[in-house]
Amino acid sequence: MLAVLLLVLWKPDAGSETVTRPAAQAASDKRIAFSFDDVPRSQGAFLEPDERPRLLIEALRTAGIRQAAFFVNPARITAHDNDAADIAAYARAGHVMANHTARHSRLSAVSVPAFLADIDAAESWLKDKPNHRPWFRFPFLDEGQKDKAKRDAVRTALKQRGLMNAYVTVDASDWHLENLAIAAGKAGQLMDWNALRDLFVESYVESANFSDELARRTLGRAPAQMILLHETDLAAMFVDDLAAALRADGWTIVTADEAYRDPISHMEPDVDFADGTRTQMLAAERKIGKRWYERNDQKVAKKLFAERVLRD
Ligand SMILES: [Zn+2]
Repeated sequence: MLAVLLLVLWKPDAGSETVTRPAAQAASDKRIAFSFDDVPRSQGAFLEPDERPRLLIEALRTAGIRQAAFFVNPARITAHDNDAADIAAYARAGHVMANHTARHSRLSAVSVPAFLADIDAAESWLKDKPNHRPWFRFPFLDEGQKDKAKRDAVRTALKQRGLMNAYVTVDASDWHLENLAIAAGKAGQLMDWNALRDLFVESYVESANFSDELARRTLGRAPAQMILLHETDLAAMFVDDLAAALRADGWTIVTADEAYRDPISHMEPDVDFADGTRTQMLAAERKIGKRWYERNDQKVAKKLFAERVLRD
């Protein structure tokens, strides 16, 4: 049924260029790397679970994204589909694997010992795997929110374990667009494939420039950005278009290793919230700018999805 639905909805453009954008600025210093959370992720809106990793690897290859970071939840790996083989295939394709807790725990909702146990469980699965990096991505980007004691306890524990906080700087909630597409599919609503792709691509490019401008105002320079995606169908289908649009907008795509060598990787912003991007936290610490990219507000994204993607 999914395959049939996909055929109905697939209306590719004649050309490969996705979104028309102004010519790139000369000598741009905008750099960006890619990361994918929640590996392996549950079924999405369009693809069979086995199809998605193959499509994603191929899209990254054709987009010239040599090394993306994949953040794994080992407790979600099941024997009956090919999750472990898919993760090995990401590594074989040159990408790197890191820790997202075993069970996707939310720090605000569990004790520090329970959270650390979940980190350790993931690390023990990852430690001997190829292309493993000592990086830790907080599920939900929840670093303890307003609870500074909790935040500091986990910061200390990460250092003791030699794990770097694998922050993000660019987010446009691909998981939410995916959920909207799943809901539309279940309700029998038709979606305009090209409009969905353009909304996805445009939102991430906008979010990247939002973070770039905020960082320049905060730091007086342009740090390498780290884009947050998830192992969604939308990411697999559109990441090559996103890469093309970013390049057309003056961005250079770099490896995850290079992005995390940026000096902001050593910073620990002290703010009264800890569940956002690193750029937002650094800006907030210095009382600069607004905190959120507007399309991460689910009401805003839902309205855009309804207006631009859904068809009668
Ligand atoms: Zn996650």
